[in-house]
Parts: sequence; C-alpha cells; structure tokens
Amino acid sequence: MAHEYLRIFKEFSIEEVRDHLLILGDLSSDCGKCRAIGLDFNKHENCPECGAPFRYVTSRRLELHPEERFRIVRRALEKRPHWTFIDYLDFQKTLGQKKARDFFA
Ligand SMILES: [Zn+2]
Repeated sequence: MAHEYLRIFKEFSIEEVRDHLLILGDLSSDCGKCRAIGLDFNKHENCPECGAPFRYVTSRRLELHPEERFRIVRRALEKRPHWTFIDYLDFQKTLGQKKARDFFA
C-alpha cells in the first residue's frame, strides 16, 4: 500500500522540537539546538557538536520550492523513519512568538 504525506496538527514543546531538530539545507544541514553546520542526515543521528539526538526534521524554503525541498526531506525520512517532519514556517513562527512572550514577561 502506498503511503502519502498529510499535514497534521499536534501539540509540541517548542524547546523540545528546537533542541532535537535537524534543519536540512541544499548540501548540508544544521542543528536547531547549537546551530552547528555541515551536518548530514546520512551520517548524523545525533549532533556531533552538542550531542543532541535528532527527532525532528525540517527544511528552509519549503514553501518556495516545495517539490525540491520535499524530496530532500523525504530522503531523510527514508533513512530515519522515526523522525517527525515539522513545517519550518510553523516552527519559526512559534519560536518567535515564544521569544516575544519571554521578552515581555
Ligand atoms: Zn548541536
């Protein structure tokens, strides 16, 4: 049976996602927790810099280049099927709101 991707909404702790997030780029990826760059989902199940185990994956510019970006994410999910695919704009927006709340608290 073929499986397709559907977007879902679920509650997450934004810090938990940030601290276990691999952000996929064109050639290399970076760690959401410590911003280490040059990571590769084929090699790195944990961040080599801060040691964070990756559980979530996303890609920048998904909305601008959906086919190309989705292919990259799908390759990562085929290699790491236990990772959860997070929408980058959702993540950025929610993290920004939290930073603003914390700033004014
Ligand atoms: Zn890291």
